[in-house]
Amino acid sequence: MGISAKNICKRYKEFVALDNVSLDVKSGELVALLGPSGSGKTSLLRIISGLDFPDSGSVEFDGAEARTNDQDRHVGFVFQHYALFKHMTVFENIAFGLRVRNKKYRPTEFAIRRKVVKLLSLVHLEAFWDRYPSQLSGGQRQRVALARALAVEPQVLLLDEPFGALDAKVRKELRRWMRKLHNDMHITSIFVTHDQEEAMEVADRVVVMNSSRIEQVGTPEDVYHVPANAFVYDFMGNYNEFDGWKDRDGRIHIAETDVMDSADEVASNEEAETEALLLPEKKRILRMPDGAKAIKLYARPHEMLVSRSPLEDDGIQVKVIHINPAGPLVKMELESNSNRVLQAEVPKSVLDKLTIKRDDILFVRPKVTRIFE
Ligand code: ADP
Ligand code: MG
Repeated sequence: MGISAKNICKRYKEFVALDNVSLDVKSGELVALLGPSGSGKTSLLRIISGLDFPDSGSVEFDGAEARTNDQDRHVGFVFQHYALFKHMTVFENIAFGLRVRNKKYRPTEFAIRRKVVKLLSLVHLEAFWDRYPSQLSGGQRQRVALARALAVEPQVLLLDEPFGALDAKVRKELRRWMRKLHNDMHITSIFVTHDQEEAMEVADRVVVMNSSRIEQVGTPEDVYHVPANAFVYDFMGNYNEFDGWKDRDGRIHIAETDVMDSADEVASNEEAETEALLLPEKKRILRMPDGAKAIKLYARPHEMLVSRSPLEDDGIQVKVIHINPAGPLVKMELESNSNRVLQAEVPKSVLDKLTIKRDDILFVRPKVTRIFE
């Protein structure tokens, strides 16, 4: 079932929680709503589910507008803390949605049991059918919540930070499992997360939200490699920021220290050179020429070129202040002469070849940079 949210606006008193948000989810797609806390993810999910209503805008399922108080949206919902029924066994929790059905639509007892057994196997909890929620781990409970949501054969599955309360290892396991479940069942699913790794790993498409709006919708590859703006870039991972300028011919330059305009204390190149002689550590200050435009440049830690000897253009002299060699990429924290802290990630083999240690002096430069204008 395809979902189309159109121009959704939602206010809580004066506060705008959703500001003209539109989103299309294709039938059978698994979409992640990704964004910082308070960006409007839950609000959007609740409106799609029919638990809440927009001030304006509409939600369509397969092209038909969902009516208010629509009981047949066929939506399964899993929350971060979806309290299971404590006094019911795993089996009865999963069967609940079928048992409470109107008599006309209720399956026979035999059919209910067969269904629950199938779901128990799907969530790998066959051996736990007669346990109570208090006798389960967090990950197991969340799998019961999923099985319970699936029991009523929803055409749409909505999950609000379903793994949020679990520890890192269990989260990873459930992620993989959810991807597999989706590949098997193809239920149109939207899941909310504030964890970019989780979104990237599980979703077909990622919707990046920020301050009540959607910043970008794209495949995990798109939002990571072709971020629409600085917010998305920032949200997707660590980065270094550089001051620089764009000259009259459109060429990009990196300044080692903050970009100075002509009104700054260094009034001319000559003066800058004099100062450089007095302060050798400032030797490579570059000055923005007249008519150039100051810009910010960005590069990820793994996009940094690291060298023992000075680099030709735009190289920055840094001191190694911390090395974390755990993992295939060695993480380094570097400090420039202007006390800017930079991050670099290099393969372990590079680190070994250059025999880099703490307090060493290195030269770095971004191999690629990104600009958001
Ligand atoms: P997210 O799920 O991305 O963390 P929410 O959709 O829950 O964000 O909330 C978005 C904003 O709307 C938040 O600033 C939150 O405080 C506010 N908000 C959400 N629900 C209510 C409510 N029932 N009453 C007042 N403010 C709310
Ligand atoms: Mg939320």
